[in-house]
Amino acid sequence: MLILDAHLDLAMNALEWNRDLTWPVENIRKSEAGMTDKPDREKNTVSLDAMRKGNIGICVATQIARYVKKGRTLPGWNSPHQAWAQTQGQLAWYKAMEEMGEMFQITNTEQLNAHLDLWKNSNKKKPIGYILSLEGADSIITIDHLERSFEQGLRAIGPAHYGPGTYAHGTDSTGGIGTKGKDLLKKIERLNLILDATHLNDESFWETLKIYNGPVWASHNNCRKFVDHNRQFSDEQITELIQRKAVIGIALDAWMMVPNWVRGVSIPRDMGVTLELMVDNIDHVCQLAGNSEHVGIGTDLDGAFGKEQCPSDLDTIADLQSIPEKLKKRGYSQKDIENIMSENFISFLQRTWK
Ligand SMILES: [Zn+2]
Repeated sequence: MLILDAHLDLAMNALEWNRDLTWPVENIRKSEAGMTDKPDREKNTVSLDAMRKGNIGICVATQIARYVKKGRTLPGWNSPHQAWAQTQGQLAWYKAMEEMGEMFQITNTEQLNAHLDLWKNSNKKKPIGYILSLEGADSIITIDHLERSFEQGLRAIGPAHYGPGTYAHGTDSTGGIGTKGKDLLKKIERLNLILDATHLNDESFWETLKIYNGPVWASHNNCRKFVDHNRQFSDEQITELIQRKAVIGIALDAWMMVPNWVRGVSIPRDMGVTLELMVDNIDHVCQLAGNSEHVGIGTDLDGAFGKEQCPSDLDTIADLQSIPEKLKKRGYSQKDIENIMSENFISFLQRTWK
């Protein structure tokens, strides 16, 4: 079954982790033997090769670079100009993958439909289709830079990431969106970009949805019902997003799947972190919606964590192919399962770009 993954930091892995994603996952692991600079060395789960093996033919791929003001503790760049340059480097990597035939940028319905057609009907080695998204808007130096990004193919944007941002407040911070945030939202709406509600703190989330009228989704976000944290959506937020015709991608970061996860200490198997918990989150959104049309897959795999912090029954991203069977066991129909694995996000894009 074709799978769409709505959140992967592919270029970040290529440039900051120095991973050649054209390699099999196993080869990348071998190349990292003995490295200790990052906690997830030798524990990666994603490569373009593994995506092909798992029939994950399409994804939302990020540009990501945080600007951190002096004195703040989060990692990031010291100026928005450096952050912008970092995202431009990431774009250059996606373009290089396109030149190799490894990836294909999707910016409109014609390209989307042609790509889906290719994945259904060709037996040759196929490029991974990607929709370009910016996670955290700090790298947008001025509103004009957003226009430039749009021309480069950007189609979705999350105003915030972790901590306080230039345009909105993100996970683990307090505050709303301010004047800059409002101006950004106006431009997002005018460009018909998709607003990614992921990472907005509660205050910024509600302020944003009040004034923003364009298309909105949440690329990688789990339910507060299972882990009570501001990074997760309350039922009230999920219901609001459903009313706005959003699709919510469910993520596979262990701390967002079980309560009381301690980074660097907890072990997935001991904590009972399995793909069944992803299905619990999927099911919860479906129960709130009363249908299977508002949830999808947004794994965030290799988003600065690896096998040490994801479901114990997943070795590589290709193992997402075990989700359909789990949904079937819970009584989901074939149509429901197709909706969840890719169709919801695909029809969202077709609706938005028509
Ligand atoms: Zn994220």
